[in-house]
Amino acid sequence: MNRQIEEILINAKYGRAITKEEAVFLLSLDENSLEAALLRSTANTVSRERFHNNGYHFGQIGVAMSSCTANCSFCFYADAYTQIEPSTVSVDETISRCERFAVGGSQGVYLISMHHMDFDWYLNLCATVRKRIPDNLELLANVGDISLQQWRELKAAGITGAYHASRIREGIDTRLKPKQRIKTIENMLEAGIDWYNLCEPVGPEHSPEELAEQIWIGVEMPCVQHGALQRFPVPGSPLYSKGMISLQRLGQIVAVIALATLNKKEMKYISVMLSSHVGLFSGANVIYSETGEPLISNKANDNSAAGFTSAQWRQSNEITTYDCRQMLTSAGFSNI
Ligand code: SF4
Repeated sequence: MNRQIEEILINAKYGRAITKEEAVFLLSLDENSLEAALLRSTANTVSRERFHNNGYHFGQIGVAMSSCTANCSFCFYADAYTQIEPSTVSVDETISRCERFAVGGSQGVYLISMHHMDFDWYLNLCATVRKRIPDNLELLANVGDISLQQWRELKAAGITGAYHASRIREGIDTRLKPKQRIKTIENMLEAGIDWYNLCEPVGPEHSPEELAEQIWIGVEMPCVQHGALQRFPVPGSPLYSKGMISLQRLGQIVAVIALATLNKKEMKYISVMLSSHVGLFSGANVIYSETGEPLISNKANDNSAAGFTSAQWRQSNEITTYDCRQMLTSAGFSNI
């Protein structure tokens, strides 16, 4: 075992957050090495203690869909090549989906829009939904770059937190400006809204230095959530050919984030996306569901089926709140 790594990990175990230089070093490790395994394991131990073994899951609803002129080179909705037609989810459908997330034990649910949207429509949706869903389900925003005043209006409508990130290679792989993304986060914080952050969208081509640079935005600014998201290769997108990082690599990045944010008192969540056991054994305590609690189908009692499969009653291939609870429970989280 490399002495330098041993020292960094022992210090982290006893509460010293890693430096940016150490993060670059740890991100340079071969993902299949013994050292990388020990890094993930150390982050797991430290996070379990730090967060009292609490595990959480959040839900998300894409409430507005259209082609997007930001044209991010990794995105399914990029104007340059997407085939999708614009659509929105109705208020009643949004509320019904929120209720299923609440039944399934989600901590909160994000209402996700495109980068450009009809803000008044979105604001009205948030205010209406907030009044009609269970109080204990947090309502979170995921929107484009908006002003301080708009964040204040969202807060008044019942939004308590929001996802936003200045992403890896922002301005290079996207047409958005890193400064504007950061300004939006500053506005959100000034309005008193909790900031949910991620290191994303991680691909195999990103260097340890680039990753550390982006991770440190969330180390230096007050986020309640940090974590990592692997880029899904969207067929037809310019970055499709770059492929996807492995779950070991994703876990390694989550572990570095966990050790870099050790002393951030405001942080409650370390997330791994897509949801995986590897991430939950690497310092993450949050995963995401795509839909709420599955509806029970009469087909569950249909003995003519060739053996039981959960798909008979799940009626979905999406990750449900049920799946999240199962994943967190089997990963050994005691408070979900
Ligand atoms: S800003 Fe968001 S929705 Fe628009 S292209 Fe980029 S990732 Fe897609």
